[in-house]
Amino acid sequence: MSQTQSELIRLQSVNALKITMDNYFQGLKQAAETRNRKIAWCTSVGPAELLYSMGFEVYFPENHGAMLGAGKNADKYIPTAVAHGYSPDICSYLTSDIGAFLQNETPLQKSGFSSVPRPDILVFNTNQCREVEDWFSFYGRHFKVPVIGIHTPLCISDLNPEIIKSVSDQYHRLIPELEKVTGKKFDIDRFRETVGLSHDGCVLWKQVLQKAQNLPSPINFFDAAIHMGPIVVMRGTQPAVDYYKILLAELEERIENKISAVPVEKFRIYWEGMPLWYKLSNMAKLFAKLDTCIVASTYCNSWVFDDLDPADPFTSSALAYCKLFIVRSDSVKENVLEQMFKDFTINGIIYHESKTCARNSNNRFGMQNRMFKRTGVPFLEINGDLNDPRCYSEEQSIIAIETFIHQLSGR
Ligand code: SF4
Repeated sequence: MSQTQSELIRLQSVNALKITMDNYFQGLKQAAETRNRKIAWCTSVGPAELLYSMGFEVYFPENHGAMLGAGKNADKYIPTAVAHGYSPDICSYLTSDIGAFLQNETPLQKSGFSSVPRPDILVFNTNQCREVEDWFSFYGRHFKVPVIGIHTPLCISDLNPEIIKSVSDQYHRLIPELEKVTGKKFDIDRFRETVGLSHDGCVLWKQVLQKAQNLPSPINFFDAAIHMGPIVVMRGTQPAVDYYKILLAELEERIENKISAVPVEKFRIYWEGMPLWYKLSNMAKLFAKLDTCIVASTYCNSWVFDDLDPADPFTSSALAYCKLFIVRSDSVKENVLEQMFKDFTINGIIYHESKTCARNSNNRFGMQNRMFKRTGVPFLEINGDLNDPRCYSEEQSIIAIETFIHQLSGR
């Protein structure tokens, strides 16, 4: 069967995705209502495995931030956080999330929550940015509960044993604090099992993303940004592993049947930077119309922690969470990008300079020019933001994107 569709075909796995995510939120809701299980808040690339292994329900404020963005509500909430002293120039996940909290609103209310689930403890890792510690501290003060975390060095070139040991030691130091909250002893076997499940989920997620190496690709960035939900919030659980088996099988079937993510794939683009959550579907349609598939991204690849190893759960966790793209120096990042361009047969790269996320805007220190010199892959820079639509000019960006793709066709 060959593809003759004129529109984007929705992945069927979206139904299983919905069930998987609904079950996750129901678990949180039940714990929030009955308080029969402790609730930990965790950063998106924080020590989720440790928390799940100790029996916490785990809630991720960044996921909530993305929900606010995708629901096109962030600009309604950001001014409230600004009025409370948070700059409009810092992370708009943070400002929209805190603003929504101060307004006593959450998209979770549609799923029956009265508010975001009250934390018993908040646990961060600064591997992604400093904002996460400040963000969690706001809630720690509000709820009068402990805020603990891991401080990871940034811009790592040489991922040496001293760095790994320092982070691994910090993992160990979290345990007594977490035990105080759960009232139960840490169980190394349970931790090994959770790290093993996280590894398996991450490997499956990597295989999902690698399917986009196929010409044409069966999946694009906009699909991946939706289907990454379980690897972000359920890393270390069996349902995440089960879900990615379903998605992977569907992509294999699509390849077999020559079903592509966009109706006609003439150009293959790499997306560097955060998604614009409030424009996800508009962008998906725009690129499809331009016969262009965004086949790979730094963002979606950020949840591939395939160094996790149940045989050595602490050291391998430290390694996996320090090896992450966002934690590395520009020279390491440039090597990663060059390899990605080759593996995914990339024709062009789009850098999204996200106004409120410096750490996910890699074109601020000349990387775009260095990469062009090194690979000859043309690039486009667009200005916008992950959540705050006031930082994005759609009209200007559409013209720039159309012109860029038109130039690619002339090459
Ligand atoms: S990495 Fe960027 S988007 Fe994520 S929490 Fe930090 S500042 Fe916000």
